[in-house]
Amino acid sequence: MGEIKTSSLGYPRIGENREWKKALEGYWAGKLTKDELNHQLTELRLSFLKKQQDAGLDLIPVNDFTYYDHILDLSTMFNLIPKRFEQTSGDELDTYYAMARGNKEAQACEMTKWFNTNYHYIVPEMENKKPTLTENKPLKAYLEAKEKLGIEGKPVIVGPFTFLKLAKGYEPEEFAQLLDNFTPVYIELLQELAEAGVKWVQLDEPSLVTTLSSDEIRLITSVYNKIRTAVPSLKIILQTYFDAVSDYKEVITLPVDAIGLDFVHGYEENLSLLKEFGFPDDKILAAGIIDGRNIWKEDLQKTNDKLEQITAVVPVERLFIQPSSSLLHVPVTLVHEKELDSLVLSALAFADEKLEELSTIKKLILANSEQKQKLLDENKKIFDKISQSTWRSSYQKNEQQLLAKRTTPVTERQKIQQQKFDLPLLPTTTIGSFPQTKEVRRARNQWRKGQLNQADYEAFVNEQIKKWIDIQENLDLDVLVHGEFERNDMVEFFGEKLGGFVFTKNGWVQSYGSRCVKPPVIFGDVHFKEEMTVAETVYAQSLTKKPVKGMLTGPVTILNWSFERSDISRQEVANQIAEALIKEVEALEAAGIEMIQVDEPAIREGLPLKERDWEYYLNWAVEAFRISTSTVKDTTQIHTHMCYSDFRTIIQSISDLDADVISIETSRSAGELISTFESNVYDKGIGLGVYDIHSPRIPSVEEISIVINRALEVLPKELFWVNPDCGLKTRGEKETVAALENMVTAAKASREKL
Ligand code: GLN
Ligand code: ZN
Repeated sequence: MGEIKTSSLGYPRIGENREWKKALEGYWAGKLTKDELNHQLTELRLSFLKKQQDAGLDLIPVNDFTYYDHILDLSTMFNLIPKRFEQTSGDELDTYYAMARGNKEAQACEMTKWFNTNYHYIVPEMENKKPTLTENKPLKAYLEAKEKLGIEGKPVIVGPFTFLKLAKGYEPEEFAQLLDNFTPVYIELLQELAEAGVKWVQLDEPSLVTTLSSDEIRLITSVYNKIRTAVPSLKIILQTYFDAVSDYKEVITLPVDAIGLDFVHGYEENLSLLKEFGFPDDKILAAGIIDGRNIWKEDLQKTNDKLEQITAVVPVERLFIQPSSSLLHVPVTLVHEKELDSLVLSALAFADEKLEELSTIKKLILANSEQKQKLLDENKKIFDKISQSTWRSSYQKNEQQLLAKRTTPVTERQKIQQQKFDLPLLPTTTIGSFPQTKEVRRARNQWRKGQLNQADYEAFVNEQIKKWIDIQENLDLDVLVHGEFERNDMVEFFGEKLGGFVFTKNGWVQSYGSRCVKPPVIFGDVHFKEEMTVAETVYAQSLTKKPVKGMLTGPVTILNWSFERSDISRQEVANQIAEALIKEVEALEAAGIEMIQVDEPAIREGLPLKERDWEYYLNWAVEAFRISTSTVKDTTQIHTHMCYSDFRTIIQSISDLDADVISIETSRSAGELISTFESNVYDKGIGLGVYDIHSPRIPSVEEISIVINRALEVLPKELFWVNPDCGLKTRGEKETVAALENMVTAAKASREKL
């Protein structure tokens, strides 16, 4: 069947210098014409292909490129355009962008997280239950690569099962029928590819790593049988990623030519399945052995061991080697990282470097034993240096700290704290940040560039704090905050002050649409270096008699929103962060701050894809939070905050955090969430967000009252707080004050009736 091939599942879209983002935003702002946009994006797309060709990649993905999101591409290709977009000009591209971003007439389609990554896709809406193929984008991409660059591309398409699983607008009972409706559409698409001479196509079915029912397995088998019968000659790679495949025995017998498995995330399990049940002789194993989601160079010794294990079952001739997932999740290239410490640099591999690694690994496989040893030795030198560096050998576990728990039960603490703070019923507060106005951002940028000195910058921040403490006093809020004006981002801010983090210059990854994020890199042992929030908080507290909440980002959120180390477990990293944070908590407490909020908006999103792994994750996540908050006095009130998420399944864990008060984002689905907290599991203070901060609309007193009263029907009045549903940093000043004014009025009115 020929020699071993290298393959890749997808390449980042954003460009080395985020040219893609700039082109999209230029078009939206009317600065680029449609022709200019098309021209720029075509150039970019071809340059990406060229790079992969030059890197010697054997199977180069096409159709991984998009004008916004690859799932939205499929929705429009399949004519799944919701009716509300029908007025949109008739121009296809404008309709496409209206679905992504909304317009005057129609609300945008929902956007949600792509499995357990930080990429967000546009949720398909199944208003039209009879999809048709209106355009064959994968075919165009294939022909373009072939004509322009002589590349025999491998079209990448999300498969029918996963696509429909990700869609909404249908009842579970309709799933089978809908999948049936999609089958001929996929067949038509694939037949056209086969006729054009496509050799390999990759159908992504990441849903196969989630927990599946036996009915679903039956449906998948039936779809793929139909596809095989209708398109016998096209070679299909059925691609899974992000975890071990759930029903291995069934999946490997599906009538396809190659099966793609993730041997990074889910390695142990995929390997043991491979060993236990073998692998069919007539199929290729597309083995994801390079981490497609993290930024570290591969330890070739480990890769080599992996390959030995894998090739003991599947011979080298029937192997593709590839990244574990699309490279969409990692930054593009290291070439612009001129300011990074050379040791750090030597440990990293972004997308382009990962492609180089693939050829190195191919060499490793084909090498004789002497050459092999040489490659391994060279790589080992780098890893030895890294692991022996002070970055990674300074951490001393503090066993005492790790065992810390608040000993006084929450019900006792509530009494003690009520006595101390003497807050009214339904105390009002906010989540932490106040508007990050142009002025605030400008001052921070000037300070970063050295145009504003430290003292002037601090004075500026203090001015903002003072201004907003006055506003909060005037509004008569009960618990105040300093406003987070010194922070650009809730994770980056702490990363810059803690030890163990590094920051790249250009390490951007796409989050959704044109929005990119540059996650901090946890390179070494995380440790506390200096007080991070004490000065601003103490200053704010000095201006008022009301309690000011200290404001920190929690260990799990810092971990989930960073590129984390892979040489130690996530749990260990979380504990290191927690141990650093408790020092800050203690410093705040020692400085007289008596309420401290530790935000964990990312706890829910870190939940593993397979239900059976939830408990383990939740246990260590809860433990990390407790480490970061548990040595405080009984009178110190610990708050936490989480953004909107489905809490039903994790309510016990949220309770186990043992925070005295939690505030959550609920205004968009109040009913559902309130009923979650109704179950008597939760006996702590709870602030249900009473209005949606994502919209500039000012909520009326009446509508806020409705939310409060509904909550009071199910929650004990002593436990209930009143607050907006998230931080206010994206809002304008005027609307913020007006909304909070209505919130306080509504709270006071309800309070009087209690
Ligand atoms: N304290 C943060 C803020 O108010 C919380 C942000 C969040 O939940 N994402 O901005
Ligand atoms: Zn939030």
